[in-house]
Amino acid sequence: MNNGTDGPPVQGGPRQSTETTFGRGVRGLARRSALLILAPLLPLLLFIGFLAAQLYADQRRTVLADIASQTGDQRAALETLLDAPSTHVQRLAAFIADRLADGVPRGPSPMRSVIRRSVQPIGGAAIDGYFTEHLATEQGARGIGFVMAEPRLIDELAPRYGEVDAVLDLLEPIRLGHLTSPYLQWTYFFSESRQFAVLYPPFPSAEVLANSVAGGARRIEDILADWNDYDIFRLGTPDTNPERKLYWTKPYLDAAGAGWMVSHGVPVYAADRFLGVIGTDVVLRHFETLLAGLSQAPGTVAVVNAEGQVLAMRGADAPPSQAPWPIAAILPEDAARLPLADILAPSEGFRSVAGVNLLVQKAGAEPFWLVHSIREPELRTALLARLAPSGVVLLGVIASLAVAVLVLSRYLVRPGLMLVRHSQRRIEEREAEYRALIETQTEFVVRFQPDSRVLFANQAFCRHVGMGRDEMIGEILTDHITIEPEDEARLHEAVANLTPEKPTMLLELRVTQSDGRICDEEWVETGIFDADGRLQVIQAVGRDVTERKETARALERQREALHQSEKLAALGSLLAGVAHELNNPLSVVIGYSQMLVELAPDAATRERASHVHAAADRCGRIVKSFLAMARAKPPERRRLFIGDVISDALTLANYALRTHSVKVTCDVPDDLASVNGDRDQLHQVFVNLVVNAQQALAANLGPRQLTISARTEGAGVVVEVTDNGPGMTEEVRRRAFEPFFTTKPQGVGTGIGLSVSRGIIDAHGGALELTSAPGCGATFTVRIPAASGLHVVDDAEHDLLLEGPVEGQLLVVDDEEEIAELIADQLARDGLIVDVATNGQVALDLVRARAYDLLIVDLRMPDMDGPQLISRLKRVAPALLSRVIVVTGDALAGELDAVVSTHGFPVLEKPLDLDMLKREVRRKLLSAASEPEDRGIHEAHAS
Ligand code: ADP
Repeated sequence: MNNGTDGPPVQGGPRQSTETTFGRGVRGLARRSALLILAPLLPLLLFIGFLAAQLYADQRRTVLADIASQTGDQRAALETLLDAPSTHVQRLAAFIADRLADGVPRGPSPMRSVIRRSVQPIGGAAIDGYFTEHLATEQGARGIGFVMAEPRLIDELAPRYGEVDAVLDLLEPIRLGHLTSPYLQWTYFFSESRQFAVLYPPFPSAEVLANSVAGGARRIEDILADWNDYDIFRLGTPDTNPERKLYWTKPYLDAAGAGWMVSHGVPVYAADRFLGVIGTDVVLRHFETLLAGLSQAPGTVAVVNAEGQVLAMRGADAPPSQAPWPIAAILPEDAARLPLADILAPSEGFRSVAGVNLLVQKAGAEPFWLVHSIREPELRTALLARLAPSGVVLLGVIASLAVAVLVLSRYLVRPGLMLVRHSQRRIEEREAEYRALIETQTEFVVRFQPDSRVLFANQAFCRHVGMGRDEMIGEILTDHITIEPEDEARLHEAVANLTPEKPTMLLELRVTQSDGRICDEEWVETGIFDADGRLQVIQAVGRDVTERKETARALERQREALHQSEKLAALGSLLAGVAHELNNPLSVVIGYSQMLVELAPDAATRERASHVHAAADRCGRIVKSFLAMARAKPPERRRLFIGDVISDALTLANYALRTHSVKVTCDVPDDLASVNGDRDQLHQVFVNLVVNAQQALAANLGPRQLTISARTEGAGVVVEVTDNGPGMTEEVRRRAFEPFFTTKPQGVGTGIGLSVSRGIIDAHGGALELTSAPGCGATFTVRIPAASGLHVVDDAEHDLLLEGPVEGQLLVVDDEEEIAELIADQLARDGLIVDVATNGQVALDLVRARAYDLLIVDLRMPDMDGPQLISRLKRVAPALLSRVIVVTGDALAGELDAVVSTHGFPVLEKPLDLDMLKREVRRKLLSAASEPEDRGIHEAHAS
């Protein structure tokens, strides 16, 4: 962990950056490899596209030019076709004109010998006139032609060669003309006179005239008049054709059933006199046949006349040319709306007109146009066929490229990318593993920049600090937690001392978290350096060692307490030793001072002696208290007066209380119920409570008050120990009874006082309670069940035992001669006979020699001690065993219990309270006196 100055925030942890960098890298690689493959392909494809467009345009041009040239050929053919009738009729007109020209020698009219008058039965009518019918039989099936004239003409016919003769002569050149041109259907002459007509080829009149008869004609004149009403005649008359031009009729359906046709006519003049009209018919089928020669060309080709009528047509989508169609019908809608003149405007090549490619060529001087229209889709279809080979080549090239790309991507790029992806997955899996490893750690893992901004923190650390990872990344951590100033200074110093040679250091920090918790943390900080040795990142691994530290501190406290209690124990035994040593002299001082009080001759001496006695007595009680404190023995249960225990405790603490000016108030009623308990243990409890109160009161500036009050409550005794000290906080109050819990400085507190006290009171079947608040002092309440029955010895009883005569022979055994003498002196004053033995052996000898009423024996003696002597007594004087009083100055001795518990001897502790001794001796002697006489020297008698 580190603290530092402000710097730019770092966004995101290592996971994010690794993942995105890697993912981006792989995606970039895939993109680049695709680009690498496609980049050279793109210009290539563009070039191919350009080539294809170029090719298409070229081909389009070529195709249209080809078609135009084919159409040109057709136009030539059309011109040839049209030239035949034109030449034909012109030649015939010239022939007649020539025949009738002035100055031409002519013989007699041959007419009369050629035609004959007859009545032709046609369709129910009888047509009377001149015909060439008979020639058919004379000259073959068809004859030379068809001539028809009204009878009046022949009747009036001049004898000289005339118009009719010339026309008849025309039949031969007509025949020749038909022979040379396949396109001519009929050739005819209609006379202006309406008196005759000539027709080639010859047909039976029944066939030729049938139509007219069906139309209602009954005379030959009607038929001739009817014929002169045809377009071919009307267009040739001087009125309609003053310039005497060649002309064409509109298409019409042939009356004789040859189909649709057009007629080409020329007016015939002789010496400026209009004679009639020569006409010839061309069946439209010939135009179609001609157009069929253009079979390979796409689109529609039509032969159109000046009126815009379609005479013939070829084209897949075109309607059949059974009737003359208007040109508009075969053009796309937009083009059809154009004026006819625009449509028929001739052009060299194709021009694009309103969505259609149009080529219009005029058939020379004739009023016919060859119109070729190709719609764009048709042209495209035609072009495709032509472009197919080049297309195949281009497709081949593209296919090869595609195959190359495929092979490249399949065998090179894709495996490469797969490898990369596989590696990426592996890396991600690994990263996830490592991440899990870091995240599931209970150790804290944190990464910092040298400026102390957090780069990464694992979950354990986030939990520990109580912050979300997102809140923490990029933050300066010490803005959120507080490191102890001393630790922070050490941390700075340690970070500054990180070097590539010594990149790791160990630190213990005490940190206050954002929620106020104070934690001990242990960190290993490792510096990560760049190639130039500059510190880049600090990686810190740490753990919360608060508990461990706490435990260590507690252990340390316990160790210290143990040490203290060992010290106390050692002090205790030392004290016990000292007390023991003091006991005997003290016993002497107390004993003799008491005797002095009694024996003093004057009041002043008695007064002084009583001072000595009182002082010695006080010393004796202090020594006894010490011994009680230091005594280590199993708990005992004796009926006792708790007031005594309290006053002993106060005596022990008296000095300290006094020197600290503590005012002690003790309120223990005399009729307080007695309890069954271990005097020493209860003594320890009250000493603890009194000493604690005294120590707490030391902090009080004002009056210091300690109050101890006892009362009988229900079936128990309640003692309250109250001080007006500073009291306890809630935390201290809660923990006060915990073993080793102390708020006192080392060497003063051990933290075991209250826990041991509570244990003792609990063992007595009672309870130790505490009420305290800061500033309100503390009250400890001790509850102990009362003992059943009455107090054994009351003061009256005491006094009774001290009065009245008593007699008996006693043996006092004590290695301390002064003590033995003191006891002997004291008891002798009561009239008792007292022997003294200073060791066990002497005592035994005396017991054997005399019958004693009572044995007073010290426990600890050289050679043969008290217990040994007593066990020997069992054989020597068993009766005496019931009349033994034990005196001991050694409260720590373990054997005391064994001897006392076996025989139930009364025990008197040194320094001796002589009154108590006297009372005990008297009680024994009085009770012995009431027993049957069995004292004696059993061993002696037996032996
Ligand atoms: P020690 O006296 O060695 O500290 P104890 O178990 O006797 O151990 O006491 C535990 C703690 O209880 C003391 O350290 C003190 O903080 C508190 N305490 C005990 N008696 C009092 C009292 N009369 N007033 C205030 N605090 C007390």
